Amino acid sequence: MSDSTIPLETLVAWLRRFTELVTDQRAYLTELDSAIGDADHGANMSRGMNAVVEKLDGATAGAADELFKTVGMTLVTSVGGASGPLYGTFFLRMGMSAGAVDSFDGPALGSALRAGLEGVVARGKAETGDKTMYDAMAPALDAYDAAIAGGESIPDAAAAAFAAAETGRDATEPLVARKGRASYLGERSAGHLDPGATSTALLFQALAETVAEKRG
Ligand SMILES: [Mg+2]
Repeated sequence: MSDSTIPLETLVAWLRRFTELVTDQRAYLTELDSAIGDADHGANMSRGMNAVVEKLDGATAGAADELFKTVGMTLVTSVGGASGPLYGTFFLRMGMSAGAVDSFDGPALGSALRAGLEGVVARGKAETGDKTMYDAMAPALDAYDAAIAGGESIPDAAAAAFAAAETGRDATEPLVARKGRASYLGERSAGHLDPGATSTALLFQALAETVAEKRG
């Protein structure tokens, strides 16, 4: 397989890998959320993504719009708090943007991911430095787009996105939260990583690992 396109099955593998990561790191994500939130982020993400995998096990995804609609609706309906609607919206918008395709080239994957980010922004109204998932996702997509524009392969662009997501995640630690439950803590929210930015870094870790494995 060439680096220039990835089939939909690779994105299914991405979702499965993300599920493994949030499940493996469930206790850690919950520990982060117990510092500045309501201690349910690990449980929520793990439950939601395992519900997604159950749906995927029972059906073949013909096209991206269908696949990501299923993923998004499952997260919206099975996960409480902010993370279900935000991640759900991310995947719903990805699917709407991608349409009924069964493979992606580098720019198409970037466009779908960016549509997802725009959905997160529309729903959560987060901006840079608010100490949310946006702080990991926005730099990840900027790095991805820059790599693709520079002629790099999808695996290299995904690796760049993951590195940028980790940097963005780490940058949330000193921030005072301005959105979500953590913002109620004011200055006391500083000194902790944002749980949503941390799970978002796992989303890009999963993507980077999955497309690297599938590399020709
Ligand atoms: Mg929470």
